[in-house]
Amino acid sequence: MADHDQTAYDDQNVFARILRGEIPCNKVAEDEHTLAFADINPARAVHVLVIPKGAYVDWRDFAANAVAEEQAAFTRMIAHVAEVTGIAETGFRVISNIGVNGHQEVPHLHMHVLGGEPVGRMVDRG
Ligand code: AMP
Repeated sequence: MADHDQTAYDDQNVFARILRGEIPCNKVAEDEHTLAFADINPARAVHVLVIPKGAYVDWRDFAANAVAEEQAAFTRMIAHVAEVTGIAETGFRVISNIGVNGHQEVPHLHMHVLGGEPVGRMVDRG
């Protein structure tokens, strides 16, 4: 993990606790830098969360502070998850919610990988 100011990072967030093994997850895949696990409240037939093992609040933090190896692993893991869950060929969506307007609930960077059925239009106006 890159060495950076982590004062903004809440190490009691639920994904930090999953990474420390304090609460279980339904693991889909893992490598040195990245963990992928099923979302506890799936919005589609396949709904996997991909997170870096490092303490990054969101995409901006990760982009600014993660080392290239962590960023490459994260990118690869998203594609790997699509392969191992069988949604690569039929298509899927990758979403990251960031901050207040992005409606981010868990303050540890995560990408939602959604598929296995039509995901719908990108975003509605509601
Ligand atoms: P976000 O609004 O992007 O921060 O989404 C947080 C996601 O984390 C939601 O889709 C939740 O269903 C999911 N989530 C919360 N707690 C857990 C958990 N313990 N295991 C798996 N997924 C979780």
